[in-house]
Amino acid sequence: MAASSFVIDVDYEQPAAEAGAACDTRHAWARVPPEPSQDERSALKERIRRLLRERNAVMVSHFYVHPDLQDLAEETGGIVSDSLEMARFGRDHAAQTLVVSGVRFMGETAKILSPEKRVLMPDLDANCSLDLGCPVDEFSAFCDRHPDRTVVVYANTSAAVKARADWLVTSSCALDVVSALHAQGRKILWAPDRHLGDYIQRQTGADMASWNGACIVHDEFKALELELLKKAHPAAKVLVHPESPADVIALADAVGSTSAILGAAQRMDASEFIVATDTGMLHKLRTLNPGKIFIEAPTAGNGATCKSCAHCPWMAMNGLVELANALETGAGEIHVDPALGLRARVPINRMLAFTAGLKNGQAPGRLVAGIGAA
Ligand code: SF4
Repeated sequence: MAASSFVIDVDYEQPAAEAGAACDTRHAWARVPPEPSQDERSALKERIRRLLRERNAVMVSHFYVHPDLQDLAEETGGIVSDSLEMARFGRDHAAQTLVVSGVRFMGETAKILSPEKRVLMPDLDANCSLDLGCPVDEFSAFCDRHPDRTVVVYANTSAAVKARADWLVTSSCALDVVSALHAQGRKILWAPDRHLGDYIQRQTGADMASWNGACIVHDEFKALELELLKKAHPAAKVLVHPESPADVIALADAVGSTSAILGAAQRMDASEFIVATDTGMLHKLRTLNPGKIFIEAPTAGNGATCKSCAHCPWMAMNGLVELANALETGAGEIHVDPALGLRARVPINRMLAFTAGLKNGQAPGRLVAGIGAA
């Protein structure tokens, strides 16, 4: 059990209060671009290739966006990856313009790490329920009530929330970072995903005060229906993202970030997999594993409804037309207040240094001690 918790009610179904305000799920679904015809698709891709060259730009796409935006990123020398690698790639690439297909916090992170670069997104209203559910004022008040805790926040947060944190993590390094902090006797304040926080707490035994946010995609996976699906596919291995509820995680053969899920599918000796993460991930899984079968994990029982139905509406707002327009006109440019960005860069850089150190074989405890002044 987490040591304490703070609950905030968030209604994602309320219309945005003003033009340009964060987009709720209904409005996000209404703004998902229509599928282009084959001819339109080819013309748009050609236009984007040309604009990327002319603008000295590179594409950085997340695994959950439309397959067109994933394929085009790779074809043109960009990257398709999880949010950790997106951040690293954007920072290290020589291009002066980054075109981030994903959700707003990903564009903000790119801008914070590369303030001298121009960062464009197909749609600036593409948000995330975790970000929307963690407003900075309430979050700061939560931090103020727990001054003895090391503040660890997930990447899916605003620049202002990151600026209040000691450490930033993504799902691919959260367990290692918290584990290392716990080994040093630190108490943790965790935000915003409650399922990932609970998972880390169960794995590490750390003392964690947790925020109560959730990802609307992973929160909807259902254990009972998953058990039934497993019975229908007894040889299938179950791959689960840790933003899912605990009873779904309990049924997993492998739990991890999008990159970890990809690795498990390639590594595991099975020909069939049930996948509990956004269905956007299936494109990469199928491309890299042509002989294997991937089945969507269920999100709702008989007669039930789902908000996301295993696909993030904000990720779905990214389209070829919007991306081409952003490149053409400069619309969809991300701006982050420079002073805020400077503060937010501290926890992001700690994460990047920590994960780079891990890759080089350094011990997590020494890394935390060396990097984490907080
Ligand atoms: S899939 Fe979930 S965590 Fe990812 S952007 Fe959408 S709402 Fe946020």
